[in-house]
Amino acid sequence: MRHRFTDKVALITGGGSGLGRATAVRLATEGARLVLVDINERGLADSVVELGEAAPGTEVRTVVADVSQETDVARYVARTVAHHGRIDCFFNNAGVEPTQRRTEDIGHEDFARTVSINLTGVFLGLKHVLNVMREQGHGRVLNTASLFGIRANGLGSDYHASKHGVVGLTRNAGVEYGRYGITVNAMAPGTILTPMLENHLGTLRQQAPEQIDKALERIPAGRFGRPDEVAALAAFLLSDEASYINATVVTIDGGRSERA
Ligand code: NAD
Repeated sequence: MRHRFTDKVALITGGGSGLGRATAVRLATEGARLVLVDINERGLADSVVELGEAAPGTEVRTVVADVSQETDVARYVARTVAHHGRIDCFFNNAGVEPTQRRTEDIGHEDFARTVSINLTGVFLGLKHVLNVMREQGHGRVLNTASLFGIRANGLGSDYHASKHGVVGLTRNAGVEYGRYGITVNAMAPGTILTPMLENHLGTLRQQAPEQIDKALERIPAGRFGRPDEVAALAAFLLSDEASYINATVVTIDGGRSERA
């Protein structure tokens, strides 16, 4: 295993589960010092246990915070800077799943909640972290968008709006901050087997199992993705190897987004 993150400080939101945890493990095995942020304290504790097994000796701190609240975001950034003095890598990843409802059936409050976490949370993370990175003169930012930030699935306008918004934030912030030695990119994962998806699959298995086969048929790879596969891409985009990739969106979906 290469060590692309030796002495690097990596800040990860949604670090208590799924893609955030898998990426934390990947970065830790390559030498990163970590600050994990999540609203779920138990999830953070479980991530620390998993890191201890996968990458013993990793320096990891946790912050319980709600990414949709600016005071919480300012606090997780301030804690990271107070302890480490800088932020080299920011994985701006926390998010919630779609409502799985038609537009006319989505309540205003549900729409606002999804957008406040998936989009405002990413904006607030950018706002507070980019200020630190601009002053230090370097940084790598990776936002988690989605296949549904670049394509439409039908159902879940709240999620589509939030993830398309993440793509817009990414492109603009990359253009704004490229001159300061900073890259801002997004990934657009397809269907990845994390707890978020497992919840959804559990419901489908009971209510409409044929939908799972239909979903698999639409993926040229013929299977759902694994968190470690996404973590490998995240690590690359957060590393110095990706120094000339900026303001763009990279898909990781087994070819699903190109299927007619
Ligand atoms: P997950 O549910 O396993 O992890 C998401 C984490 O975000 C959880 O630990 C949760 O507690 C945390 N979180 C939720 N709301 C928060 C808040 N307000 N403040 C702080 N933390 C909060 O799901 P995942 O699949 O790992 O999702 C990670 C990201 O990937 C999300 O942005 C999601 O939309 C995106 N994504 C996932 C898939 C997939 O198929 N799993 C596909 C495309 C995009």
